[in-house]
Amino acid sequence: PRTFFVGGNFKMNGSQESMKQIVGALNENKLNVDKVETVIFPQNLYLIPTREHVRKDIGVGAQNVHDKKNGAFTGENSAQSLIDAGINYTLTGHSERRTIFKESDELVADKTQFAIEQGLTVVACIGETLAERESNDTIKVVVRQLNALADKVKSWSKVVVAYEPVWAIGTGKTATPAQAQEVHAEIRKWAAERLGAQVAEGLRIIYGGSVNGANCKEFLQFPDVDGFLVGGASLKPEFHTIVNVHT
Ligand code: 13P
Repeated sequence: PRTFFVGGNFKMNGSQESMKQIVGALNENKLNVDKVETVIFPQNLYLIPTREHVRKDIGVGAQNVHDKKNGAFTGENSAQSLIDAGINYTLTGHSERRTIFKESDELVADKTQFAIEQGLTVVACIGETLAERESNDTIKVVVRQLNALADKVKSWSKVVVAYEPVWAIGTGKTATPAQAQEVHAEIRKWAAERLGAQVAEGLRIIYGGSVNGANCKEFLQFPDVDGFLVGGASLKPEFHTIVNVHT
């Protein structure tokens, strides 16, 4: 059985004050974190105080990481500094990184493998644009992104795959749970073929794109949805509803 995973991607949001409130609420509330691996991804500047103050049964991760150790890479975020600060997770390949910051499939794969080598667990994000879905290229695109990862990644036990259709991110328009299941099943099928049955069985595939407290329960009936990557709603109290989705 795969442990359900819920991530909160805060993106470029938050202040010291709002982070205090978010962390305080997470610490005070009854959360199903013993059953659900729960990880928040604040902006870099807030990682250390968040790790210091948030309850230990919630993980803290970065939103991006560089693919080289350290040195002359002005403005980048090193995996070593994350580990040094007790930050054990990172996202890679978020569609905003791929689109706005022109990260290629190959760079995303390099980052993913390097982060794993340094000791991080990686939530690797994939997903198609609206144009790609409308031209029936969803599976082709997702498999291309996955193959690029598989060319580099050695320990898939350290990877959670986040399927985030770009058209569903921040739009209020989620994929229907059935649409998510369809793609997740294809991802698992790909994993079985490329990585072997055992890896495929253990691989967590989570859905992201306009997940909120009201719609999260609908996904539970689908066997290949192993959790969520939540953007906007992760900054709000309804994030707790999502973490507690099974209750
Ligand atoms: P929203 O939940 O705001 O649509 O964002 C999803 C996302 O990009 C999570 O990484």
